[in-house]
Amino acid sequence: MFLHELSRRISQGWPIKVDDVEYESLVRERFGNTCPYCSCDLMMAVCVIEHLDGMNRYRTGLHVAGNVLVACKRCNGEKRRDDSLRILSLAPSGWESFLFHNGTQCPAACLTCHYWQSVWDNEIERKQRLTDNLEKIRSFRSTFPEFQRALPVLNRTLPELLTKLYCDCQGFAESEIKFLLESLPPSFPFHDDREAQQPPL
Ligand SMILES: [Zn+2]
Ligand SMILES: [Zn+2]
Repeated sequence: MFLHELSRRISQGWPIKVDDVEYESLVRERFGNTCPYCSCDLMMAVCVIEHLDGMNRYRTGLHVAGNVLVACKRCNGEKRRDDSLRILSLAPSGWESFLFHNGTQCPAACLTCHYWQSVWDNEIERKQRLTDNLEKIRSFRSTFPEFQRALPVLNRTLPELLTKLYCDCQGFAESEIKFLLESLPPSFPFHDDREAQQPPL
């Protein structure tokens, strides 16, 4: 919710609005109506709105032009593994990391490497396609100057800000829940830790 609100405010004066039909058309056109990650035909696949930098506390991506693509549902799901890692070892961002699983740097059991093997069986082709798609996405992002200008500042400040916000929200929720539990009547049918710790009568 915080990232959505921040996205709305940051991109208020930008020439292209991410939720406009024109933006989706532009994205589809740029990638030839194929998935930017696996190159499958989007006419034949289930499509989803995809955030290059995922909208979570580790990736702190925004819902703004330059960070939003249309991808196939499979890639969107597979990419979540990288997006949910606190520290990435293959690349500085989740989407780049996702495309770096070319089968040479990860343990043999890596699920993302297996995914790419299932898409392109031939190793040489796989490496080439992953590199090409990485470059295509980088080039796509570079065509949004407002986004490019905002990105370094956001990358520097957002992770720390979000970590603090999550901690504050958690602390607030915990104290509210404690208050709620304490204000319930004694007859309320639930069993909490306080009851469990009481010695048997
Ligand atoms: Zn895909
Ligand atoms: Zn891998």
